[in-house]
Amino acid sequence: MTNEYTIPVNGLASGRTEFGWSVGKEFFEEFGNTEVLDADLSVRATAEKSGTRINVDCDMEGVLTVQCDRCLADLQIRIAPHVRLSVRHEGAGNAEEDGGEVISLAPDEAVLDMSQIIYDYACLALPMHRVHEVGKCDGSVIGHIGIAVQSDMNPDEEKESPFAVLKKMLD
Ligand SMILES: [Zn+2]
Repeated sequence: MTNEYTIPVNGLASGRTEFGWSVGKEFFEEFGNTEVLDADLSVRATAEKSGTRINVDCDMEGVLTVQCDRCLADLQIRIAPHVRLSVRHEGAGNAEEDGGEVISLAPDEAVLDMSQIIYDYACLALPMHRVHEVGKCDGSVIGHIGIAVQSDMNPDEEKESPFAVLKKMLD
């Protein structure tokens, strides 16, 4: 795989340098991810070099398509994660902590590969529970669920509080 998601840290000029990439479905496939069914992300990384210090601000924005936990239809989730990196070469002294993630490179490492970082932050931006908004699920499947809830009703459940019933519906 030719990796385009790299920042040439050794050849970087002082000041700010911008990089832009687009991330599609194949990117997640390369990582063996089967949850992301489709992807359309744009990534902008701004590297700022000052002396031996390099900070990288990385902004990602776009849409990931996953499967809805409730109706199993495609669900598009808009994400916009941001990560700030402090890049330093090992043995070059302590980089000033800048509140971001610190990336250590071997002294002879000339490029910073951003693909793992992009992958990790994109996946972290996905919610734990992936469901459509109320009423937006695939209608045919929800019809079945509605019938199932009713036929599950028995006299004992009528004594339950409305909250318990609501919780059951949400589960
Ligand atoms: Zn759904």
